[in-house]
Amino acid sequence: MTPADPNQSRDGALENLAQRLRGDLLWPGDPGYDDARRVWNARVDREPAAIARCTGVADVVAGVEAARESDLPLSVKGGGHHVSGAAVCDDGLTLDLSPMDWVRVDPDTRTARVGAGATWGNVDHETQAFGLAVPGGQDPNIGVAGLTLGGGVGWLSPKYGLTCDNLLSADMVTVDGDLVRASADENSDLFWALRGGGGNFGVVTSFEFQLHGVGPEVFAGTLVYPGEDLPAVARRYREFIETAPREVRLLFGSMVLPDASVYPESVREERAAMLICFYAGAPEEGREVLAPLREAGEPLMDSLRGRPYKSFQRAGATEGSMRTYLHSQYLATLPEEAIETVQEYAEDAPSAGATVFVSPWVGAETDPATDATAYPHRNPAHHLLVEARWTDPARDDEHEAWVREFHRALRPYTTGDVEMNFLTADETGERVRAAYGGNYDRLAPVKREWDPDGLFSHTGTDHPDGWD
Ligand SMILES: Cc1cc2nc3c(=O)[nH]c(=O)nc-3n(C[C@H](O)[C@H](O)[C@H](O)COP(=O)(O)OP(=O)(O)OC[C@H]3O[C@@H](n4cnc5c(N)ncnc54)[C@H](O)[C@@H]3O)c2cc1C
Repeated sequence: MTPADPNQSRDGALENLAQRLRGDLLWPGDPGYDDARRVWNARVDREPAAIARCTGVADVVAGVEAARESDLPLSVKGGGHHVSGAAVCDDGLTLDLSPMDWVRVDPDTRTARVGAGATWGNVDHETQAFGLAVPGGQDPNIGVAGLTLGGGVGWLSPKYGLTCDNLLSADMVTVDGDLVRASADENSDLFWALRGGGGNFGVVTSFEFQLHGVGPEVFAGTLVYPGEDLPAVARRYREFIETAPREVRLLFGSMVLPDASVYPESVREERAAMLICFYAGAPEEGREVLAPLREAGEPLMDSLRGRPYKSFQRAGATEGSMRTYLHSQYLATLPEEAIETVQEYAEDAPSAGATVFVSPWVGAETDPATDATAYPHRNPAHHLLVEARWTDPARDDEHEAWVREFHRALRPYTTGDVEMNFLTADETGERVRAAYGGNYDRLAPVKREWDPDGLFSHTGTDHPDGWD
């Protein structure tokens, strides 16, 4: 490895880099610079010294070498959706992988190789052309890279597992600028670490996934109820998932409905309870299996029907550029007291963008042993995400306080675990350790082996001792 050269100015290193790249190197003030540094959470407003728009592996190698040789902080941007904003860094070099958004499907082997700048919308578009899919994010704009490296869960997960469980191999540029492949047979420790250990080990340039036959029609939609029905909806969810087949995934929660004609007038701009239902099988089968849920209670709206998987995935698109704060946690069971707490805080939400959603962790998500991949959360549970989104910076404290207090009030019922993909930048130490669970101690030496000087540690979270 070439040691950092203190005499080489950072600007000099970046100017050399500009010569080596096929993609553009964007400097502050350049057209496109502000777009490239923008991430989904509008509270993150970081200004890299330069942004390399990488078109392929050669650009990534050049970027890694430039950062290493000139001691520049380095960050890697996939889809830019992580709430911490770790994809961009102040005064360093950001590698923007979004030009690498290719997806190549092999229908015969039912596999796909995916460039590290692709979004889930890109993947669903290409794979669904062959009636295939891999469990992925529920918003088409999320990056494949960040989501997969942190685990990744989607509508297909109870049946086909987490996104990282469907990873067959990954190509990665190391700190030395080498390109390596990680799979079950090659660099198997790294392969283990990449499935849940985040972007801590190098820059992944492509992912190879196992695909499954899905749709193109599935049975899915939303049941909407008055806000005060949330406890009844939660109980129905709890009871139903106990015996539901693996094709079913449910989410229950509370949100203010937009002023859109798809919703009945009586609930537009009102806080509603909802049950989002998905069946990963033949639509007529899904209609039958989900019928008991539709018949219980009195929904104000029932949009369950056979529909293309791709359009259901697209419907999950959220608006970017809002200020966001959130907390993720797991509950081993869903006791009445927890349901009451959820209802109490939902009713007390500070604004329309404050939501809570609960989803089951079941089926294929829990099949692997807790140490089969770096991703550790394999016990049946309920994942609860409390999230607030708003626009006025003057309301930051109010929204943060709601999320924190909600989280605190639920603590007696939680396992203490947290999803790495939903760790906020201010969650440090033991919370970060909890994201890796019992696999933390096995991950630390892999980190030391592949990134001894911590070039890839700009993950937005502060790792506890023993990591670097
Ligand atoms: C609206 C919304 C919906 C979501 N829905 C889901 C969901 O359905 N299921 C789910 O599991 N999660 C979901 N998430 C969480 C999501 O998984 C994480 O935000 C994930 O990190 C996003 O990946 P990204 O590539 O867009 O993120 P980025 O912010 O670009 O990257 C996240 C982290 O990964 C690193 N990284 C990115 N690319 C690479 C690479 N090629 N090599 C090495 N490191 C890299 C970055 O440096 C950063 O530390 C959602 C998030 C949002 C905002």
